[in-house]
Amino acid sequence: MTKQNVVPAEAVAAITAAAAVASSSPLYPYPPPRSFQKKYLSQLDFAGGRIGTWVESMKASSPTHTKAVGAIGVPVDEQSAAWIMRHPSALTKFEQIMSASKGKQIVMFLDYDGTLSPIVEDPDSAFMTDAMRAAVRNVARYFPTAIVTGRCLEKVIDFVGLTELYYAGSHGMDIKGPAKPRHTKAKAKSVLFQPAREFLPMIDGVYRSLLERTKSTAGAKVENNKFCVSVHFRCVDEKSWGALIEQVRSVLKEYPKLRLTQGRKVLEIRPTIKWDKGKALEFLLESLGFADCKDVMPVYIGDDRTDEDAFKVLRDRGQGLGILVSKFPKETNATYSLQEPTEVKDFLVRLVEWKRPTMKALSKV
Ligand SMILES: [Mg+2]
Repeated sequence: MTKQNVVPAEAVAAITAAAAVASSSPLYPYPPPRSFQKKYLSQLDFAGGRIGTWVESMKASSPTHTKAVGAIGVPVDEQSAAWIMRHPSALTKFEQIMSASKGKQIVMFLDYDGTLSPIVEDPDSAFMTDAMRAAVRNVARYFPTAIVTGRCLEKVIDFVGLTELYYAGSHGMDIKGPAKPRHTKAKAKSVLFQPAREFLPMIDGVYRSLLERTKSTAGAKVENNKFCVSVHFRCVDEKSWGALIEQVRSVLKEYPKLRLTQGRKVLEIRPTIKWDKGKALEFLLESLGFADCKDVMPVYIGDDRTDEDAFKVLRDRGQGLGILVSKFPKETNATYSLQEPTEVKDFLVRLVEWKRPTMKALSKV
């Protein structure tokens, strides 16, 4: 492999990490001043210590770190109040959201981890509650509903256990619709799509290498998500984060067609193809027959950096709305916020309560 082949992955890693630090730094109010972003980004570019850059980014993505440090001269409470003004609670603004949806078909997109299930130490134990499952089931009765996740399709279907939903696993690279769709329009297509199928053997190879290379780091957990690999560092001592990122990057040098990104307490390795949760949202809208439809209101709820691609698609379309799940101020393209999965459940329950009388009235006509 030539050195040239290594450059794109390195460049992507540096840019991703730099953007993450600049956008998530707890040291400044949100969003950070442009002058700060410019200065800090250039410092990172020339820092040379890329491992340090990644570790800083990993710290910045940790809610506990964000909570601990306030902005310089700005109390944490004031930061939160200013942020919530810009991204109000979707529960508080529920009526306003519903009046904006009048005459439009709501289509629901839900992330899984940290949105429908709490973030837990063992990713294999990220179960959703029965109450949440019931809420999602009821929402799917009235609205087309999709789960969009970094998890592999099989695992998230197993966790959610509802056959009537659309699922987009592996950050949207593995999409599957229900066997008997309820809400499809006449021009809807059958939903089954794997844009990165050719990468499957490569992902399997990198998964095995990462398992081997990271086994000396206590607490590291490597997960094969079929079209991407996750390295969870939630249970890794912070002192070992540098060693872990070094191990991951040493493996990735052999895989120039894969890139490294970061989510909440997780490093993610995925194909370099231009496909993300935002593209998955657009694909699903098109498949459902809403490609050029003005009377559709997509609602996307997620908690992670990877969900920002979907929030951005909605902003750019000027259609629908993004809801970020976060207890702490974060730079985001979402319009509204919810604090935690229990609030997501409350929002879903209210959505059904709002829709049910309308449907009953229609059935009497
Ligand atoms: Mg999530």
